[in-house]
Amino acid sequence: MNSLTKVDYPGITRKILDWHASHPRLLPWKGQGPYATLLSEIILQQTRVEQGLPYYDRFIRLFPTIEALAKASEDDVLHAWQGLGYYSRARNLHLMAKIIANDLNGEFPSTYDGWLRMKGIGPYTAAAIASFAFDEPCAVLDGNVYRVLSRLFTPEADFYTNQGRRDYQKLADQLLPRDQSATFNQAIMDFGALQCVPKLPDCNCCPLTGVCQAYQQHRTDQFPPAKPKLSKRTRYFHYLVPVDREGYTWIEQRRQKDIWQRLYQFPLKECTHSGDSTVLQKDFLKEHQLLDWISNEESKDYKHILSHQVIQTRFHVLTGDRLPEQPAFRRVKIKNLPKFAFPKVVHCYLMDYSIYLNTIHHKNG
Ligand code: SF4
Repeated sequence: MNSLTKVDYPGITRKILDWHASHPRLLPWKGQGPYATLLSEIILQQTRVEQGLPYYDRFIRLFPTIEALAKASEDDVLHAWQGLGYYSRARNLHLMAKIIANDLNGEFPSTYDGWLRMKGIGPYTAAAIASFAFDEPCAVLDGNVYRVLSRLFTPEADFYTNQGRRDYQKLADQLLPRDQSATFNQAIMDFGALQCVPKLPDCNCCPLTGVCQAYQQHRTDQFPPAKPKLSKRTRYFHYLVPVDREGYTWIEQRRQKDIWQRLYQFPLKECTHSGDSTVLQKDFLKEHQLLDWISNEESKDYKHILSHQVIQTRFHVLTGDRLPEQPAFRRVKIKNLPKFAFPKVVHCYLMDYSIYLNTIHHKNG
């Protein structure tokens, strides 16, 4: 960064506030109190606003208060979250609702430290809720703010290290006007989301060109520096979808400490490579006494990319007489599958193949 002592922080803050006053961004949770703020912040972790909006609407409609969310079953909460991914957010949100409604008599924590003690709340979310809902002077540092700070000041700090994160937090703190914390936090986040966007920032209409280091150096495309790439593990999931002549199939709830905890799925065979589906099916049929079942449609591959792993998924339909009762699996009607919360890949498969699955047992019969 260039000489820190010469930076006019209050001047930059004023320009961002002025920009915000003339670029209002209407969002349904703004100014709606702590419950709406909490909901929106949890939904928007690792999710774009456009993608999160329908989920926010759904949650407010299904669970209009923190007490209603606390009373809901976990299955209902996960079902409402279906398709958004990172389901630990939904479980943590539900847990927070129970703590606030039952242990804290409906009183929301009002401080940064109070929110940070909640499971699933990190420094950014604690600062955002404390600031937006309770006007505590905490500077938020999310991806949008990081991008703006990186371009304005071109610091050498590596944001993806603890020290780098602290350096960026200091910059954010320097800009924060303590008497307008919520307004400024919203302003700089919106500025990053609408003006100083990742690709092709709108520098021609930007009020900060005179102080923006990246702009001055003609290096806006180099800031923020690219995030170091993590090597990802690939896992191969083969789901067996047995459909009996009465139109039932098997599902189970994922219990193990792994991704998609407590969501439902079909019987799963996991491999470290794409595998031979014929061998897989034989193993499965033998294990579950379904040796006379017939192999049917095999789906295309569905890919799901998570932060540390890639899940390659394929579905194999089997048809046969009547599924036996098995303690590990729940026997459910194909037409009732939409009532359960599934991982996104299973949900996408069901969207693509629901007509096929709903009719195959007639042919089978
Ligand atoms: S001049 Fe361009 S890069 Fe710099 S803050 Fe404005 S929009 Fe962002």
